[in-house]
Amino acid sequence: MVDVVDKKTRSRMMSGIRSENTKPEIVSRKALHHLGYRFRLGSRIGKIKPDIVLSKYKVAIFTHGCYWHQHKGCKLAYSDRSYSKEWLKKFSDNKARDESVTNQLLDKGWRVVILWECVTRKEDIFIKKISQLDKWIKNNKKDYIEFG
Ligand SMILES: [Zn+2]
Repeated sequence: MVDVVDKKTRSRMMSGIRSENTKPEIVSRKALHHLGYRFRLGSRIGKIKPDIVLSKYKVAIFTHGCYWHQHKGCKLAYSDRSYSKEWLKKFSDNKARDESVTNQLLDKGWRVVILWECVTRKEDIFIKKISQLDKWIKNNKKDYIEFG
């Protein structure tokens, strides 16, 4: 497997990832920042508040917890088997909201990225995915992608 980023970039990315705070959105912000992306925290697109807004590229990034957003086929999504009716309702509400938010942004001409939590948990996988994301932001014409 050929390195997709050079040594210097890799070590900068690693130092960004090796943080005590491993929350997916924080890890992702750091990695993108190290790749040279600039963004302000708490940016909104209308009423929608993505985790990261790259205005220059018209890209909105959401980091989704695998459990709360029920990442399909993901181990982290199914760790709790004692789902009550209320939980199932909550999950389906979350899913409906995610879809609606994505569609609203796509309608406005934004590109949408979903970064699943499980991708941010392992350094080697994360580095690979982040560099794929980097390429996608700069080159891809598609308007929606998930990394999970
Ligand atoms: Zn997942």
